[in-house]
Amino acid sequence: MVDIAIIGGGPAAFSAAITARQRNKAVLVCKSFAAGGWLHKAERVDNYPGLIGVRGAEILDLFERQSAGMGARIQSGTVRQILKTEQGFMLLAQDEVVEAKAVIIATGAAQPKTLENEDALLGKGVSYCGTCDGMFYKGKRVAVLAYSVHALPETRFLASLAEEVVYITPNSELARGLDDKVTVLQETPVKIIGQNRVEGVATDQSEIPVSGVFIFRDAMAYHTLIPDVYTENRFIKVSRHMETNVDGLYAAGDCTGRPFQVAKAVGEGNVAAVSASDYLDG
Ligand SMILES: Cc1cc2nc3c(=O)[nH]c(=O)nc-3n(C[C@H](O)[C@H](O)[C@H](O)COP(=O)(O)OP(=O)(O)OC[C@H]3O[C@@H](n4cnc5c(N)ncnc54)[C@H](O)[C@@H]3O)c2cc1C
Repeated sequence: MVDIAIIGGGPAAFSAAITARQRNKAVLVCKSFAAGGWLHKAERVDNYPGLIGVRGAEILDLFERQSAGMGARIQSGTVRQILKTEQGFMLLAQDEVVEAKAVIIATGAAQPKTLENEDALLGKGVSYCGTCDGMFYKGKRVAVLAYSVHALPETRFLASLAEEVVYITPNSELARGLDDKVTVLQETPVKIIGQNRVEGVATDQSEIPVSGVFIFRDAMAYHTLIPDVYTENRFIKVSRHMETNVDGLYAAGDCTGRPFQVAKAVGEGNVAAVSASDYLDG
C-alpha cells in the first residue's frame, strides 16, 4: 500500500508528488497515456515565475524528472475508479488495483462527456476494463469504443476471447495494427442501447447489436471516477486545504475550477500534499 496515490500527469500532480516526497511519503503518480495534459499543448509559457518563455512540454518534463528524482513512482494508465475502503482507498488503475492511504485527484479540467445510457448501464454490459471483465464475454460479440491508445492492447486481448469485436473510433489513427477478427468502424458513438442490459451501440451512422461495450478513454468524468465526491459548477468542491468531502481524498489544479493556470495548479498540488501528509501523520 502506498501512502499517497496521485491521479494525473500535469503540474498539479507533479507538484503534489514533490511535496509529498519531501514529507517522506511513499508516492505513486498514476498518469494517463495521453501526452501531458493541457500544459503539453502550450507553445510558450511566460507567466510562470522563474521560467521565461519556455515551452509547456519542457516545463512538464522538468516537473516529472524532479518528481522521479525525488523518489516518486510514476506509472502510465488511466485510473478508472476510486473506491473508499476501511484502510483508505482502492484505485482501479490500468490493469491493476492500487491501494493507498490517501489520494490526490489532479486530473485537469478536460472531462469527457459520457454517452447517453453509459452511466445507467455501467456494470450491466458497459465496462472500462477488458482485463477485468473480458471473461464474461467469451464467445460473444462486443464493441470497443476507442478514444485512447490503450484501447489497442485491450482490444487484442478481447479478440482472443470474444466471437467478434467491433472496434468503433472517430479517429483512424487509433485503429492501426488490429487483426482480421476485429471489425473496424470509423464512426462516432452517440448512445448505448439497452434497458437493463446492453443490447447495442448507436453511432452517428449505424446501430450495432452487441452484448458488451468496452470504453477506453484517457480521462474519466469525476462522477465516474468517484461518485461520492461533491462537485460545484462541474468542478470538484474543495476547502482551502484542498480537502474534498471524502475523508483522505484531496483535489488540486484545474479539476477544482478556474483560473486554469500552471501557478495555481502547482500551488494547489503543494497544499494538497501538505494536507494529505498531515492527515496521514495524524
Ligand atoms: C494551449 C494552452 C496554453 C496554455 N498556456 C498557459 C500559460 O501560458 N500559462 C499558464 O499558467 N497556463 C496555461 N495553460 C493552462 C495550463 O496548462 C493548465 O492550467 C495546467 O496544465 C493545469 O494543470 P493540472 O495539473 O491541473 O491539469 P493538466 O495539465 O490538464 O493535467 C492533467 C493530467 O491528468 C491526466 N488524467 C486525467 N484523468 C486521468 C485519469 N483518470 N487517470 C490518470 N491520469 C489522468 C491527463 O491526461 C493529464 O495528463 C494553457 C493551456 C493550454 C491548453
